[in-house]
Amino acid sequence: MSDYPVRTQVAHHVHLVRGARRARFPEANSLLIDDELLVLVDAGAAMAHIRRALYELDHTPEDLDMIVLSHFHIDHKGHAAELHRMSDCEVLCHPLAEKGVRTFEGMVDYYGTRGHRLFEMWRHLIREYLPHTMDEYEVTGHFSDGRPIDCGETELLPVHAPGHTLDHTVFGIDGTDMLFLVDIDLTRFGPWYGNRVSDIAAFEESIERVIALAPRVGISGHLLDPVTDDLVGRLTRYCRAFEEREARILEHVARGYDTVERLASVPIIYPRIPQPAYLVFEEMMLQKHIERLQARGLVDVEGGRVRLSQG
Ligand SMILES: [Zn+2]
Repeated sequence: MSDYPVRTQVAHHVHLVRGARRARFPEANSLLIDDELLVLVDAGAAMAHIRRALYELDHTPEDLDMIVLSHFHIDHKGHAAELHRMSDCEVLCHPLAEKGVRTFEGMVDYYGTRGHRLFEMWRHLIREYLPHTMDEYEVTGHFSDGRPIDCGETELLPVHAPGHTLDHTVFGIDGTDMLFLVDIDLTRFGPWYGNRVSDIAAFEESIERVIALAPRVGISGHLLDPVTDDLVGRLTRYCRAFEEREARILEHVARGYDTVERLASVPIIYPRIPQPAYLVFEEMMLQKHIERLQARGLVDVEGGRVRLSQG
């Protein structure tokens, strides 16, 4: 068990269930809504944490009525398959999430990792650390962007916020003053967009849209506590990472790092590469930046070689 409380109440019927290991990947936070319906939003916190939070509220996993998934990632769909088998609860996701949630193969297609030279290494990591996410997941229905999910006195409002992935959705709790920001996660790492179905411009727009909602409380998928202090300022600084990373890429291209692989070896985006398999995602994020820089006329790419544009 963790050295911090597994559960904290964030609103009248709403509890944050913290992930293990400080909720860092491959763990993530979940929300538990204990209202007329018993609803879990994301299922990526450790099973022991989910059980503990349920027991503390006089429930068992079998009591769950519904699981709502923010997106298809392994650290968020997590234990949904197992919990569904225990409770026969509804499992809702965004229509675009379904393919990536249901099967491992669908997820691999969304990740875009197949064919990469490190694919087998990546799959081995998942089999080793997150074997349950290779299961088949049942999806019983979809939620719609902007249409509240009625949990009793609590309304959970899905706000589609793509970019991190195409299906990524954040959730308002009784409006948008309090948002479960999921993987607009406000961590020091910054935004992550290392999948085939990730998009930098969409991510920026989503953060800007969230800022325009002027939320007061933001609950990250990967921070232990809700952010209440200067949330809009934190979101604004978080959004700057895209530009900062591009400046770093240009600097390194100028110094002769002239391929995505060479840039990834620095690395530019990850502070360090914890396992070689993570290079897959470093490379995919760099590739997206290179395409953007090329579209802006800042770099030229020829035969996989990147150089600063002379124009
Ligand atoms: Zn994610």
